[in-house]
This record gives sequence, structure tokens and C-alpha cells, in this order.
Amino acid sequence: MIEVDTLLTDEQAKLSQVVRDFADVVVTPAAYRYDTERRLPMEIVAQMGELGLFGLPFPRDVGGQGKDYVSLCLAVEALARVDQSIAVTLEAGVGLGIVPIYRHGTREQQEHWLPDLLAGRALAAFGLTEAQAGSDAGGTRTTARLDGDAWVLDGSKQFITNSGTPITSVVTVTAVTGESRAPGGEVRKELSSILVPAGTPGLEVGPAYDKVGWHTSDTHPLTLTGVRVPAQNLLGERGRGYANFLRALDEGRIAFAALATGAAQGCLEEALRYAKERVVFGREIGANQHVAFTIARMQARVHTARLAWLDAAQKLVHGKPFKAEASVAKLVGGEAAMANARDASQIFGGYGFLNENPVARHYRDSKVLEVGEGTTEVQLMVIARSLGLDT
Ligand SMILES: Cc1cc2nc3c(=O)[nH]c(=O)nc-3n(C[C@H](O)[C@H](O)[C@H](O)COP(=O)(O)OP(=O)(O)OC[C@H]3O[C@@H](n4cnc5c(N)ncnc54)[C@H](O)[C@@H]3O)c2cc1C
Repeated sequence: MIEVDTLLTDEQAKLSQVVRDFADVVVTPAAYRYDTERRLPMEIVAQMGELGLFGLPFPRDVGGQGKDYVSLCLAVEALARVDQSIAVTLEAGVGLGIVPIYRHGTREQQEHWLPDLLAGRALAAFGLTEAQAGSDAGGTRTTARLDGDAWVLDGSKQFITNSGTPITSVVTVTAVTGESRAPGGEVRKELSSILVPAGTPGLEVGPAYDKVGWHTSDTHPLTLTGVRVPAQNLLGERGRGYANFLRALDEGRIAFAALATGAAQGCLEEALRYAKERVVFGREIGANQHVAFTIARMQARVHTARLAWLDAAQKLVHGKPFKAEASVAKLVGGEAAMANARDASQIFGGYGFLNENPVARHYRDSKVLEVGEGTTEVQLMVIARSLGLDT
């Protein structure tokens, strides 16, 4: 298999191997059972916490592991190879849960929330999407108004990852906090982010969705009715919510792309093993050029997807613009995972249609890779705009 070892530091390569071993030894044996039971295995989350995975890209002085964003992506990729749900628990937990608090939180907010989140003892969620605000996040209708020394929130959110686990400690909710007038006179919504601790009266976590895939990942709708939190729970500057969550999403897309690459890699490995093992018409199916070429193409997709997220992550780490690169990585990663899941299922014949087969799980799970954290069309929009096209 093609590796990218020359593009990684020794430390990054070692971390990737440690997480692969963890995935193989701890996650793989129980992945089918978790998927069938449709529950997030808290014992696995705890072990991921003990390995330091949730603190990877954060400095040691806030309780992190002092590694970088590439390291986080490598960990997400290594987990997704065997279980996308476990991988997205980490990806969303860090990218959507922790990053906004780390980046925009006051010292008090950081000291209050980060220690448990970085240790994996708690999970944070990010509530942006609403019925009228998905691709068009500006459609947010949830409101937050200041009442004395408190924000009062009303509205609803949907599809919120990690929002209903036994260890969910806080949800960052985006809400309309007022209106501003643009120079041309146009009225614009003022969007802000507010930290809502789990268990706050009025915050209702709806039943988990019956999803096509990602069965083990925790996803709920949220309703907020007169939810009252202290005024100091505003995260970042008032009115900067839109800009701040766009930045969080840009960054998150890189880790999401790494997740997709891991899924594509998992499908490649399974298909290759089976192609060398399964004998039909008296020879290994991999000896048929069509099967061999299909697997060769799967390898090419994985390598391309990996180079794309690595490039975006390196630019992020080196403080260079990375928005279009993140969208390219998310686009090609999602497409690679979908295509490899389809091809791997085909190579397994009838066995590829059994839920106990990891490639069947990847087949169901991979669809959302073209939707979550910005659909394929949104990525195309970002890339087209980076080329000066006004879409
Ligand atoms: C399992 C899962 C987990 C999720 N986790 C979270 C989370 O933790 N937090 C959170 O806030 N959200 C989360 N989401 C929501 C996710 O980010 C949204 O579903 C996604 O952004 C798309 O929004 P939408 O579903 O409203 O689709 P819509 O915005 O309604 O889009 C519908 C279709 O129209 C297309 N479309 C829309 N506008 C255009 C255009 N201008 N040009 C071309 N095509 C267009 C879209 O690409 C899509 O194909 C999650 C979703 C899922 C399924």
C-alpha cells in the first residue's frame, strides 16, 4: 500500500500507528455489536480519552497533548478505517466541540470547560443546524435576548452530534442576538454563539435519530424553550458568531476529510484481503483484471484523498490560507469513501450485503460524508468562489 511516511514526522507516524493498533485491537472486535445496539460505547470514549486523543492539537498549558492538527487528523483517519462512528465522535468532539471554546473562550470559560473535554471525560457539541438553517447557516432563527444578567434562548436545532451522551457537558448554540444595518441600509441578523450547559432547564434533547448509518454516533434534535444562562456564557464577541463558526467549519472539514480517507482506506484493505482469498472459477478473484483494476483505482482514490487533507492540514498548521484546500479535501475524500465502499461491497459479492461485514457498514456510513459539515455542493461553492466565480 502507498504510504505518505516521507510527509510525516517520526512522531506523527508513530501516533498514527498507535491509534491504528488501538482501532484494530479495541474497536474492531466490537464494532458490529455497537452498530447493531445503536449506542455510543462510553467505555471506548473513555479509552480514547486516556490515550489523549481529545487533547491532541491543543497546547500543554491548557491540558492538551501539545501536538498539531495533522496529528488529530491522523488519529481520526486511523479510527475511521474501522469505525466511522467512533471517528466522528472524536472529530466532532474536538473540531466542533472543543475548538470554538479553546479559540474564542475567555480564560474563565476555558478553565471551566476544557480540562474534562481535553481528557475525554466530557463531550461538547456544536448546535448550528436548524430546520431553516443548514447549508444557509444565515437562516438561523433561534434567538437569544439579554434579560438582566442572563441570555434567554428560544428555538430548535437539528442533527447535533454528541449532544445527548451521558457525558455531554455543554452545547455551543448559535443564535440571533439582534440586528445590524449594513452600509447600504440592508438589515442583517447579528449572530452570536452561547454556551448552554447540558441539563439547563428548558434545553430538551430529543430522541436519537434513526439514521441510515453512523449508528453508534450520538445525534439528536434540540429544543430550547426559555433557556436561561449567565450573560458571561457568550462565546467570543457578540455578533462574531457567523465568522467564528465558519472558521470552525473550515478547520473541521480537514479532519472530516481525514475521516473519509480512513473509510476509503478501510474499504481498500478489506477488498484487497478478500480478492487474494476468495477463489471463484478455480482462481483468486483478484487475478481477474477487472477486480485488480478496481482495487488499483481504490488505492489511487485513497492516496489522492490523503494528500488533499494533508496539504490542507499543513497549511492550517503553518498559518497559511487553507479554506479552498479544506473544501477540496472534503470533496475528494467524501467521493473516495463513497466510491470505495461501493466497489468493496461489489468485490465481496453477497457477503458485501451483510451488515456484519465492515464494508457494508462503510457503504451505509459513507453517504453522510457528502453531507455533514457542508454538503458536496457547498464545497463546490467554496472552491468556485476561490477561483473568482460568483456563485
Ligand atoms: C449525522 C449528521 C450529523 C450532523 N452533525 C451536526 C452537528 O454536530 N452540528 C450541526 O450544526 N449540524 C450537524 N449536521 C447538519 C449538517 O451539517 C447539515 O445536514 C448540512 O449542513 C446540510 O444542511 P441541510 O441538511 O439543511 O441541507 P440543505 O441545506 O437543505 O440542502 C439540501 C440540498 O440542497 C443543496 N443546496 C443547497 N443550497 C444549494 C446551492 N446554493 N447550490 C447548490 N446546491 C444547494 C445541498 O447541497 C443539499 O444537497 C449533521 C448532519 C448529519 C446528517
